[in-house]
Amino acid sequence: MINLLWLLLPVAAAAGWFAAKRNSKKHPEAFWDYSSQFHAGLNVLINDTQDKPDQLFSEFSTIDNGTADTHLALGNLYRRRGEMDRAIVMHQSLVDNNDLDKDIRAAARYELARDYDAAGLLDRSEKVFKELLASGERTNDAYESLMQLHERERDWATAIKLAEESESVTGESRPGLVAHYYCELATEALASGYTEEAITLLAKAQSDGADGARANLMLASLAYDNSDYSKAITNYERVEQQRPELMPEIITPWFESLSRIQDEAALRRFLEQLRGRKNAYSVIRSARTVIESLDGTGPADAFFIDQILKRPSLKGLRDWAQDQLDKSKPEERDKVQIMCAMLDRVVEDKPGYQCSSCGFSGNEFHWRCPSCGNWDSVHTIIGAEGE
Ligand SMILES: [Zn+2]
Repeated sequence: MINLLWLLLPVAAAAGWFAAKRNSKKHPEAFWDYSSQFHAGLNVLINDTQDKPDQLFSEFSTIDNGTADTHLALGNLYRRRGEMDRAIVMHQSLVDNNDLDKDIRAAARYELARDYDAAGLLDRSEKVFKELLASGERTNDAYESLMQLHERERDWATAIKLAEESESVTGESRPGLVAHYYCELATEALASGYTEEAITLLAKAQSDGADGARANLMLASLAYDNSDYSKAITNYERVEQQRPELMPEIITPWFESLSRIQDEAALRRFLEQLRGRKNAYSVIRSARTVIESLDGTGPADAFFIDQILKRPSLKGLRDWAQDQLDKSKPEERDKVQIMCAMLDRVVEDKPGYQCSSCGFSGNEFHWRCPSCGNWDSVHTIIGAEGE
């Protein structure tokens, strides 16, 4: 009951305030009537004397334009609590009420579609969202929800159609979204062995008007897998220009491609570029290995120290401590080992990626956040605790 109270209070208070505000424009005295009823309901809730929120608000037996917001909010509350049948009944009753304003009924229809969606009744949800589109109500929201519905179903072809239709109807573009859909289709084509089809889909992704980094990264990986290292390098360069934050994702195959074309001058030019920058730790570590293979341990260690001092990080400290362990005298070894073990634990517990929308964190990069479903919101954690 306490949990319910915390959930309900802000929703009910906001709904009550808006409803009262609307009523008070027409009948100032109605504010006080409404307010006393509303607070009576809250009082019952606070005293935990009843089990169901609709009983608490039984004073609102008549739904009108003044009380509809509260019923709308109550329906949403039921949905959040997982009581889909109640949410659907509440919202459907508002949709069916011809005495209510058109915008209130449209809002209720939108919430009803979300109820069906949350209940897993996707056919019904899609039908109601399409009714909104047909009537020209809540168009942006309906397109957005329909696209998300088809994203979850991994029906990328329909999602592309909806995104294009949405842009032509509402004039609102969603940069990069269609490119992601084409990249998803290309990923599926590659998984089925249809490489040519995947390349065609990636070309479409590149023409979406967004930066095309994901498509270029996929084309780079394809070229790398086909041992076309020059082409892979060209695409890695594009990815780096478009999304420098993706360097940790591409640095290893990029170095490998440069090694495979056996153009040592190109490899050294690339290392010189990196030397002049502050780099992500994955880049520092990979470059150190390459320098060691070219020039030996001394220059590699010097590069490493210079870079981790330019951009200190826990990962850098952990690897530096490991170096000290290898060089330590027998009498110091135990102490250094303890320090290394502690740093290992600290680094292990740090996630590498975080979603800027919902805070989800993990150790794998995602183009679409697995928690909130937003695209391009999962980023490499930069700074002392990350890269
Ligand atoms: Zn998220």
